[in-house]
Amino acid sequence: MLSLRNVDIKYIKGVGPRRAEILAKELGISTAYDLLRHYPTSYVDRSRFYRIHDLRGADLEALPALQVRGRFVSSNVLGEGARARLVALFSDGTSTMEIAWFKGIKSIRKSLDPAKTFILFGKVSSFNGKLQMVHPEIEDDAKAITSGGMRGVYPLTEGLRKANIGSKAIYTIIRNILGEPGTERRLVDPLPSTVLRSRGLMHISDAVREVHFPSTAEKLQQARFRFKFEELFYIQTDMLMRSKGRKAQSAGLPMPHIGEWFNRFYSTCLPFDLTGAQKRVIKEIRADIMGPRQMNRLVQGDVGSGKTLVALMSMLLAIDNGYQAALLAPTEILSGQHYATIREMASKIGLNVRLLTGSTKARERAEIHKGLEDGSIHMLVGTHAILEDKVQFARLGFAVIDEQHRFGVAQRARLWAKGPGGLAPHILVMTATPIPRTLAMTVYGDLDVSVIDELPPGRKPVETVLRFDQQRTQVYRAMGAQLRQGRQVYIVYPLIEENEKLDLKSLEEGYENICEIFRDYRVAFVHGKMKPAEKDHQMELFASGKAQIMVATTVIEVGVNVPNATTMIIENAERFGLSQLHQLRGRVGRGAEKSYCVLMSRYNISADTRKRLDVMTSTTDGFIIAEADMQFRGPGDIEGTMQSGLPFELKIASLAQDGQIIALARSAAEELLTTDPQLKSPENSSLARAIREMTKRQADWSRIS
Ligand code: ADP
Ligand code: MG
Repeated sequence: MLSLRNVDIKYIKGVGPRRAEILAKELGISTAYDLLRHYPTSYVDRSRFYRIHDLRGADLEALPALQVRGRFVSSNVLGEGARARLVALFSDGTSTMEIAWFKGIKSIRKSLDPAKTFILFGKVSSFNGKLQMVHPEIEDDAKAITSGGMRGVYPLTEGLRKANIGSKAIYTIIRNILGEPGTERRLVDPLPSTVLRSRGLMHISDAVREVHFPSTAEKLQQARFRFKFEELFYIQTDMLMRSKGRKAQSAGLPMPHIGEWFNRFYSTCLPFDLTGAQKRVIKEIRADIMGPRQMNRLVQGDVGSGKTLVALMSMLLAIDNGYQAALLAPTEILSGQHYATIREMASKIGLNVRLLTGSTKARERAEIHKGLEDGSIHMLVGTHAILEDKVQFARLGFAVIDEQHRFGVAQRARLWAKGPGGLAPHILVMTATPIPRTLAMTVYGDLDVSVIDELPPGRKPVETVLRFDQQRTQVYRAMGAQLRQGRQVYIVYPLIEENEKLDLKSLEEGYENICEIFRDYRVAFVHGKMKPAEKDHQMELFASGKAQIMVATTVIEVGVNVPNATTMIIENAERFGLSQLHQLRGRVGRGAEKSYCVLMSRYNISADTRKRLDVMTSTTDGFIIAEADMQFRGPGDIEGTMQSGLPFELKIASLAQDGQIIALARSAAEELLTTDPQLKSPENSSLARAIREMTKRQADWSRIS
């Protein structure tokens, strides 16, 4: 019997070659099996029918899409050409409603048989005092599908909509597939039966039916659970197999010694005690690099947790073993700051540190190239410029990437190639993006993770308040008080690409306004569209204290360290994500003084937005904020802010909500791989195939996106 994997979608009733092409292009669906894996994103309750009469005077805005049952009384085409529309009168015996179509008029009109009863499903609105539904889903009542009252709503693309393939069309095609006799037997479950049994999962044949046509809410829940598990299980299995492979293969550069550099730094340069978390993470790193394999470790630590120091001390360990080290940062400003910090901290021990960025002058660049090649430079700090082929090290043994979310996997790979004798340097990735643990495990499954979960002592939490435009005068008064005490102030504006012109305008206006109000002070001004040299100059003005106020966009989000800045005012705070606000706020509260963060917002924000901003005023814990951010925005957006993006795509599982399933999938994957590490045994062959297909899809996907 032909497996559904081999049934071309175009042979399914209701599809045909044209629709098959569109499904392939829009959703990557080419077989019947693929379509069964196109899960509904939500469900609507179709057990209830509304009476049109009851809709009169109801709060239509508040009602979801709903269904009515009745007949078409009349229909007319109004208007001409592009403005033509089909308007029909629909009656259910209690009252009437107007139904309108703007597209596909001819064929729809033909189908409106006045002798038949129809079920219409859609959003009801009020138009010129009449009840109206526009482009509803229409179903012949005699042929209507009923299934536990619940009906799936399928994710669509613009292309599908244009081709008139709506949720109902997909639903119907799926029903046609599942209606074929023997379909169940043609579905092989890729999950090994041991996993199904031990985790109490629904078999694929039931799960497919329940996920598309739920019989009860409970069965639906079980079906969705199974598919989420399956999706996460593939990812976890794949990651575990890869990292096992990597651990076995990637020989590293053993660094067994602790020597003079590290010890002298520790005893003479360190102005404070390391926190317990810093010590623990340095130990974890040391344990990694002592051994024979290459380290790939992610250090995750909230803003201000002291990651730079951990990086520096780890690099000294590498230098103690006769290797060179490199530190990469995403921007010129940030790499400049790291460079200055490291040079200052290590000034007493005579470390040869250099800075290489896009704006390093040719002469100096040549000098740096030479010093790296002959090994006289111990440590190189810089931007992407470090990754260029011309930059060759004598013995690069250790590389740190700061703020990972701006670096792609490809860039990590370029660093690997710079090690001596074909051996990759140890890689330490540092991120301040507080990725919840569950997410970190999934996203960075191929990295070992260390967490700096402790801030240096004596940090005072930044006092955060929400203020509205009407309170601006008071806000400026408080800001003036800080300035008079010799403190510095950041004022941050949103700037997003889609809105760039408008945003730049309000940024410039804001800047002029501030210059006007605070005439006695110097105001620095930075945004991402500036030339790097000008940007650096403005940053320098502020960092050196020559300017007391900094008006900026989120370019300052990452890593800038000006301890004298005690106040941050964030304009249009409602337009930022929570994690981003947290990053921004991390720029203040870096010194001994009490610090403030003022979230400015429109007065009429929604209750949800208000709740979101209240998270910021009630906690400074990056992990709590990240979790809340995921809940409010969904992990899709979080992943978006991580910029490099996930190395995979999720169709049904949610990183925000399915933490427990992630853990379950992880443990099941570990268990399975202990008995069959390569998935070579015959009972795991469908699983191996499913994982291969997934990785291939992901490769295609990452090429596109
Ligand atoms: P981040 O983790 O955000 O990169 P940094 O490395 O920039 O944090 O450190 C923030 C500030 O805390 C710096 O001024 C740094 O000198 C200071 N710092 C780091 N470790 C300690 C410590 N153990 N005790 C006190 N201050 C510390
Ligand atoms: Mg940092």
